[in-house]
Amino acid sequence: MIVAIDGPAGAGKSTISRMIADRYGWTYLDTGAIYRTVTLLALEQGISPGDGGELGRLARNAEIGFQPGPEGAPRVFAGCREVTAAIRSLEVTGNVSEVSAQRQVREALLEKQRQCAAAGNVVVDGRDIGTVVFPNAEVKIFLTASVGERARRRRLELDGKGVHVDQEQMEKDIAARDDYDSGREVAPLKAAGDAVMVDTTSLTIEQVVNRVAEIIDREQET
Ligand code: C5P
Repeated sequence: MIVAIDGPAGAGKSTISRMIADRYGWTYLDTGAIYRTVTLLALEQGISPGDGGELGRLARNAEIGFQPGPEGAPRVFAGCREVTAAIRSLEVTGNVSEVSAQRQVREALLEKQRQCAAAGNVVVDGRDIGTVVFPNAEVKIFLTASVGERARRRRLELDGKGVHVDQEQMEKDIAARDDYDSGREVAPLKAAGDAVMVDTTSLTIEQVVNRVAEIIDREQET
């Protein structure tokens, strides 16, 4: 079974996807980490985030891999180098939407994502999983939450890593990334017509996991 979990930044996609994968013993694929790794490599190699041709080449040749990490959080590799922490830097986050909007990058990464999920049961999170990458996914969830709540969660997550950002700035950054991701021409962030919308603003993580699990269980019974 393929479970597609899409939604804007900070809606809880990776936490929920990881916990669902854990609960069912399935594989978790974090597609944002793939776009982030390409962005990191581009920044390191001095490729402009608007240079679709060069970025497409980079994305095609990039060897991006995952290994199980602590508490189910996957470790991310570019070749043999671990980039798990580096792809979460503010610099990568600030450039990833522009890189991801390039058609050549999306084309290069489409097949990689499909291959990663080829074997068995998988939970895949991203922006265009239910619409473009796996339009035939058996379960499609669109997770949302208010901008204020999403900013608050991201801020707390960064606080835990010793990076302090104020709430207002975080709300601006998240809203800007949402606009960019929803407004791009190729595979924009949007809910698939047959996705179940789950607003997580006032739900606990456990409540969201249970809600998603109910949807999966119902699908498995049919
Ligand atoms: O999920 P995460 O915040 O790590 O994603 C980082 C960025 O990667 C998103 O803001 C978006 O620009 C891009 N992305 C995408 N398509 C996906 C996953 C992520 O365009 N399937």
